Parts: sequence; C-alpha cells; structure tokens
Amino acid sequence: MTTIQLEHIKKQYPNGFTAIHDLSLEIQDQEFLVLVGPSGCGKTTLLRLIAGLEEASSGLLKMDGRVMNNVEARDRDIAMVFQNYALYPHLTVFQNMAFSLRMRRVRKSLIREQVEDAAEILGLENLLDRKPGELSGGQRQRVAMGRAIVRHPKVFLMDEPLSNLDAKLRVEMREEISRLYRKLKTTFIYVTHDQIEAMTLGTRVVVMDHGDIRQSGAPQELYEKPANVFVAGFIGKPEMNFMPLEASLAASSAAAYTGRKIILGVRPEHIHITPATSRTEQTEQVEQAEQVPLMRGHIKLKEMLGDDELIYVGNDEQKCVVLTPSREDLLPGENVRLSTERANIHFFDEQTGEALACRSF
Ligand code: ATP
Repeated sequence: MTTIQLEHIKKQYPNGFTAIHDLSLEIQDQEFLVLVGPSGCGKTTLLRLIAGLEEASSGLLKMDGRVMNNVEARDRDIAMVFQNYALYPHLTVFQNMAFSLRMRRVRKSLIREQVEDAAEILGLENLLDRKPGELSGGQRQRVAMGRAIVRHPKVFLMDEPLSNLDAKLRVEMREEISRLYRKLKTTFIYVTHDQIEAMTLGTRVVVMDHGDIRQSGAPQELYEKPANVFVAGFIGKPEMNFMPLEASLAASSAAAYTGRKIILGVRPEHIHITPATSRTEQTEQVEQAEQVPLMRGHIKLKEMLGDDELIYVGNDEQKCVVLTPSREDLLPGENVRLSTERANIHFFDEQTGEALACRSF
C-alpha cells in the first residue's frame, strides 16, 4: 500500500525561478499516473521532488501519511527510470541489474534470484552475459527497467523512458510497460509529452502547464470533458478547432452567458464536410435537424494519412481542420460547408478559458 500526497508544493530553484507554484495532488496506491504537459511545465521537477532528488521550497510530501520531505532519496523506496538509461558500459546486463542490490550488500543468492526474476519478466534471460554495447535500444531500456524492478520499490517513477526509441520500438515498449504494471501491481508515475502514451498507459492523466495542474482525470474524461481551452487543445491530435461562437448560435444562447464572449471548440474527427453545392433538399433537411453548421470555406490543403485524411478549410476569418476517412470527391479549392452534432461542441469562456457546462446553445 502506497499513497502519495503532495500538499501545496512549491519549488523555487536557487536562481529564483519558480517551477511549481502551489501544487496539491493525491496519488492512490496502484495508480498509473501520467504527467503530461508542454516542455518546461514542471513535470520532471515534480518527479524529482517525489524521488527526493530535489527539495520542495514549501509544502508537504507524504507517503502513506508520513511526511517525507526530509527523507533521503535512497530511503524512499522509490525507483526511477530515466530517458537516457545510463547503463554501466563495462558491466554485463546481470551486473547492471544487480548493481543497486550489491551496493546494499544484499546476499549473493538473493541477488541472483531477484535479477533472474526481473530478467524473466522482461524477457532478458538470454542476454544476462552481454554488455550494453551488444544490445538494441529496446533491450537496453528493458535492462534499465530491470534495474528498477529488482529493488521491489513501492513506487516506480519514469521520466520519458521511451523517448530515445524509434516509433516501432516505442509501441512495443509501451505494451511492455503496460504489462509490467499489471504484473507488479504497484504505483507508477510516468512523465511524457507523448499523448498516445499518456492516453493508453495512464489510469489517470494529469495535465500540467507553467507549474500548475490544469486538469486531472481518466484519459477519456480529459478527451470528452476538457475543463479549459488549454486541456482541450493539448489532449487530442490533431488539435481541437477553436472559433468564436457563430452569431446564429449565439442568438439562442442562454441568458446567463449574454455579454460574455464564448469560444466554440470542435475536434477535427467530429466535423462533417460537404460540398457547398450538390446538395439535395432532402439531405439539407436531415442535416439541419441533427447538425449544427460551423462554417463555410474552401479547401486549402489535403494531407493523406493512409485511410484517413486531414482537410484544411478556411475563409477570410477563420480556419478549421477536418479529420475524415479519405474523401476523393473533395479537391483543394472546392467550396465546402462544415457541420457537427450538437453533443460534440465544447463551449469556453473566452476571457477565463474555462469550459462552460451549458451545452444547450
Ligand atoms: P521537458 O518536457 O522539456 O523535460 P519539464 O516539464 O520536465 O520539461 P522541468 O524540467 O521540470 O520541465 O523544468 C521546469 C522549469 O524549471 C523549466 O522552465 C526549467 O527551465 C526550469 N528548471 C529546471 N531545472 C532548473 C534548475 N536547476 N534551475 C533553474 N531552473 C530550472
């Protein structure tokens, strides 16, 4: 059982820069918590604070209710895997994995047992005598994870562990980490700026920006109900489209929002695109009943993504990206209309950026 509580944590570096302002977060036992956010938002700082590699300027860090601020990193029962896995080049895989146990003067027979167990979990049994130089990138990353596993830590911290791997290996290793998590049944805290990793691995995702938490929730929740423009734009690829609320829609808006400027957000995968011409009266009627018109414009660019394509539509005032199964009937330059279902529209207060709960505009 390990829960971690961060209470009003602030981190100011010696040069005066405040990387974390006032952050509170509770991480439950056996959660796979993913920290995402743009470069420099404080993800690594937060991870290093939890590991004990940085000291908080103020606030409390607790593990299972016990204040840990002054507990040394090596006494925290936490293992950290970094993006550059820094294996010792002159040691074998076995020796690399055994290193921390040897430093703790663990019995030799127990070391062998622990290393062999970890090697089995990670499929490294046949590579134990090799040196890091004789391994592939994925195998090296696995050794780095093996080094963490042998210690049976209460918490695993991983800082972009896959960012040095090529695309194919990343997918394989992502599955491997997922499997490892299910097998080890312990708490994982994982930093990435790769959304797919965040959404597929995390049981909970925390979106950070400028040293603050902007939203925390299950991956699907962040996608379906982003709490603000920042999260709406950060989660989902390609990014959500934002546009000022159409006058026609605003006319029927709830009284509570009169006088407030509203931004409308629609994900590219939720937009229907139809030629502005070639419309029968019947389809128009159906569309009007179920769809909300978004804009008219012409196709500026098309990008093929295999079976799908991205269509960039623009007019003098705004532009919009549409993700759709390939539409060979639509060509660049063509005039089109964009629409979507009401349920797929997100509304945000332009001033605060916060999501507006009302969906009945
Ligand atoms: P990335 O995704 O690029 O790794 P990150 O979200 O992990 O970024 P951090 O490494 O936590 O970001 O850095 C947060 C902020 O703190 C950055 O603006 C960074 O420049 C600053 N920072 C980090 N370490 C120090 C330090 N030792 N002294 C001063 N400022 C620092």
